[in-house]
Amino acid sequence: MTDERATDGGDATFEDLGLRPELLKALTALGYEEPTPIQQEAIPPLAEGRDLLGQAATGTGKTAAFSLPVLQRLAAHRTDRAPVALVLVPTRELAVQVSEALHRYGRDLGARVLPVYGGAPIVRQLRSLESGVDVVVATPGRALDLLNRGALHLGGIATVVLDEADEMLDMGFAEDLEAILDATPEQRQTVLFSATMPRRLDALARRHLADPVRITIAKEQAAAGEAPRVRQTAYVVPRGAKPAALGRILDVEAPTAAIVFCRTREEVDSLTETLNGRGYRAEALHGGMSQEQRDRVMGRLRGGTADLLVATDVAARGLDIEQLTHVVNYDVPSAPESYVHRIGRVGRAGREGVAITLAEPREHRMLKTIERVAGAPITVEKVPTVADLRARRLDLTRGALRESLLTDDLDRFRVVVETLADEFDLMEVALAAVKLAHEAAGPVDDDEEIPQVSFRPERDGGRAPAGRGGDRKPPARGRSAGGPATRLFVGVGRDAGIRPGDLVGAITGETGLTGRDVGSIEIHQRFALVEVPESAADEVVQALRATMIKGRKAQVRRDRA
Ligand code: AMP
Repeated sequence: MTDERATDGGDATFEDLGLRPELLKALTALGYEEPTPIQQEAIPPLAEGRDLLGQAATGTGKTAAFSLPVLQRLAAHRTDRAPVALVLVPTRELAVQVSEALHRYGRDLGARVLPVYGGAPIVRQLRSLESGVDVVVATPGRALDLLNRGALHLGGIATVVLDEADEMLDMGFAEDLEAILDATPEQRQTVLFSATMPRRLDALARRHLADPVRITIAKEQAAAGEAPRVRQTAYVVPRGAKPAALGRILDVEAPTAAIVFCRTREEVDSLTETLNGRGYRAEALHGGMSQEQRDRVMGRLRGGTADLLVATDVAARGLDIEQLTHVVNYDVPSAPESYVHRIGRVGRAGREGVAITLAEPREHRMLKTIERVAGAPITVEKVPTVADLRARRLDLTRGALRESLLTDDLDRFRVVVETLADEFDLMEVALAAVKLAHEAAGPVDDDEEIPQVSFRPERDGGRAPAGRGGDRKPPARGRSAGGPATRLFVGVGRDAGIRPGDLVGAITGETGLTGRDVGSIEIHQRFALVEVPESAADEVVQALRATMIKGRKAQVRRDRA
């Protein structure tokens, strides 16, 4: 065993970052073993109150990177009622996710966290604000609406976080963001995270950030050296389908020995259980185990009585396993360096290794970055279907029979075949023998449907509907379901300074739709017409009625024409 700590990047612990005991306790309970690179870099300056400009995608651990310092600083700024931190996010989905994270990390601090977004009844949000909150997580449209109603008080804000800022600009929220920032105290801390840094964002940062710490995750090149021969594949899998998908993939890949990397101890334990249930001999390895337990696990893997090791990065540090054929990233690693380091464990000594990554639909960008740093293509493949699996299992049986034909002394079975041949055709005898061999190889009864999904359509930093004049052309039909579209009438138009981006922004910010779901937009003098998927039309009408567009209430209904 060698100690490979040095090549893993910094190895500060959460304690080293100076976090409060309540937060450390929450992180331990969640099974986080060590901070991700962005957390290591961002938490200390943020906890000191510095402004920060961070380039990081989903999957890097950025949510905790800004949430933990916000919670750390809570006590110093807390008031009875008005919020002390405001997190702005592009979508409702993200508002819920970020609030949940803040809530989990801040439980022992009694942090009161409120998500506000369009499409949800505003009355309840008004009531919650009234009764007092510490952190508000909001989409810009709804935040501005609440601000204009006098329900959201920003005078006590100590920290503003703009999360996925490039997406917010893409969605036409630039002016809303300016208005919201202008309503917060000048001496506040401002934190901006974005996956890309388009020029418009730079301008925003220059105006609103004071002497920011700059952090870019995933720029460094992988250490030069002999590149291992590794076949790299990724599968796009929704979170809930991951255990089943991994089981299927492992069945098809049939590794001799594999390490499956997970983010947390909980994930390690539950996945180990799932894989054992599927007939694998899987062993868990994480930082909560004693040295003796770890030694025992390693012994079983080396001795061949276990074929899968499910581990966290920390626990697997320094392990060198000779017979390893596959490395699996159960989640996209939080930094490219960690990916490179993990897959460096296979493909040694001229043998080909396999690296498999399960990515969620949102994690496209992180995977691209990893591909760039790793310096070799990662092929995205479809999760094997039930039919693929059956075909593969037959293949394995054929291989096993062939090997037996070539190497085994089969003479003592001759008498069985000869007696049966009196009664049956030789082909039939062979078929029955194959069936028995096949079934003995593994009773996998897997007919679960695993949804075939692809990466969420990417917003590149340059696409900016808000800045464009004129009407948007209908996109090459967005709604992936390809369903029919419905035209909505919105009672604000050129008179009110409405541009297509304002409508796209309002719709995507207040509903679960993305920019690509929005069809053609016509802006007239007094009104606008916008196409949305029929299946979401009622939701959009409700949401737009409940929000402000460019600071105005608008009449919204299905277009009668
Ligand atoms: P994010 O990039 O913020 O979307 O986070 C990606 C995922 O990583 C989330 O599921 C987090 O719960 C998880 N995560 C964040 N930080 C850590 C950590 N230090 N250790 C383990 N998991 C983490």
